[in-house]
Amino acid sequence: MAVGVATVAEDLRAVFSTGKTRSYEWRASQLKALEKVATCHDKELAEALYSDLRKPEHEAFVFEIAGVAKACKFALKELRRWMKPEKVKTSMTTFPSSGEIVSEPLGAVLIISAWNYPVLLSLDPVIGAIAAGNAVVLKPSEIAPATSSALAKLLGQYMDTSAVKVVEGGVPETTTLLEQNWDKIFYTGNSKIGRIVMTAAAKHLTPVVLELGGKCPAVVDSNVDLKVAARRLAAGKFCNSGQTCVSPDYVLTSNEFAPKLINAISSEVEKFYGKDPLQSNDLARIINARHFQRVANLLDDEKISDKIVFGGQRDKTNLKISPTIILDAPGDSLVMGEEIFGPLLPIITVNKVEDSIPFINAKEKPLAAYLFSSDKKLEEKFITGVSAGGMTINDTTLHLAEHGLPFGGVGESGMGAYHGKFSFDAFSHKKAVLVRSFKGDISARYPPYTTRKLNLLKAILSGNIIRILRAIFGL
Ligand code: NAD
Repeated sequence: MAVGVATVAEDLRAVFSTGKTRSYEWRASQLKALEKVATCHDKELAEALYSDLRKPEHEAFVFEIAGVAKACKFALKELRRWMKPEKVKTSMTTFPSSGEIVSEPLGAVLIISAWNYPVLLSLDPVIGAIAAGNAVVLKPSEIAPATSSALAKLLGQYMDTSAVKVVEGGVPETTTLLEQNWDKIFYTGNSKIGRIVMTAAAKHLTPVVLELGGKCPAVVDSNVDLKVAARRLAAGKFCNSGQTCVSPDYVLTSNEFAPKLINAISSEVEKFYGKDPLQSNDLARIINARHFQRVANLLDDEKISDKIVFGGQRDKTNLKISPTIILDAPGDSLVMGEEIFGPLLPIITVNKVEDSIPFINAKEKPLAAYLFSSDKKLEEKFITGVSAGGMTINDTTLHLAEHGLPFGGVGESGMGAYHGKFSFDAFSHKKAVLVRSFKGDISARYPPYTTRKLNLLKAILSGNIIRILRAIFGL
């Protein structure tokens, strides 16, 4: 374990206490440095992603590296506005006074990230942490070692390393980090480890953001533009070989529409990856042998042996599994029992598309939910009737690309949110500040208490000006 890991929170808090991370200039300089990491080293980062995941350059750039550069630019543009205290109207209760919400940095924060989008999931929260004026430790995932090492090298080269540090490593290093007293912990990964993180945080009463996963449903109505819906579903599902926290985990559609939908998705998959997807450079691999075996076990479950209607091939040497469609996997099959996080797409049929809503609600709240439909009434029912971290209607995954929308889970899929201003808020304390004048100091507030004083205060608290005048003048 690297020297200094055991005391890194304390060391960072000492740097934070000097006040250096609070100034606009420091925050802006660090955001610019991070933007440079993404823009000047895009090739190096894409190579690391290829090494870890065989991630196609297109996916590396569009879904990770460009996302980081864009988020830095946006934070730089908005930073002064975000940092400004927010004026609040005050009431008769505290008259005369002025109120404001001051966004205060929290101190030393810890970011633990996951392997599936290891550049984006590491740097996106760092943007929020530094924009909010914190000192930060990033712990990238050891499951994507090339990216972890590239991030450690580049952040070491570009950032102010007294206040922005990268600690590489796995469970022992993360455990050592979690033993320390942080001002916030931001964790991305599975919910089992999420519980370990939250338990460790509770010891110090440290607040947490948990960005977890789950089984994200996609409901497809029969009135859709089939070609577009199938293409968007296939893209959301099979990008990064299904190793995407918001990829549609399974599809719900009506009995009679299912065959058409399966044909349309299969045809799009063939257009994307050719007749033999295992040979395609546009299909990422499964991250490692352990995860390959996990996904292979889902596929080998005898409960679905006669349900595979498309795909099903695998290449153990190159850790690739072809996009696979499974029709009506039973509820007690492995593939319907856990988050798939691989290129397997169960399609579950229901009598009416509306039946999808109770089906989804019988499971844990997902990180994302999708509906493809031209029926506005169904859309409204879905938006109000399904609880999920976020939703995209008539497409998949794209709600996370909008800075104006919070990204995070609910229930089993997580707590807290980030992106855009929500990232800044996630790493800030919203301090309430009320400034009173020495004028207007009414004696009714103070003992000795009398009925007249009480009546006057009741009148003031009612906010009714006539009552107040009556109480003052005894009318
Ligand atoms: P992972 O294996 O990389 O683990 C995440 C982090 O937890 C790593 O940094 C790892 O070092 C650390 N960790 C592992 N074991 C630990 C332990 N015992 N104690 C302390 N820390 C430990 O990633 P993963 O969990 O396989 O990621 C996949 C999961 O993450 C899926 O469920 C996916 O849906 C979810 N995910 C969520 C989001 C989101 O934004 N909500 C994004 C990506 C992935």
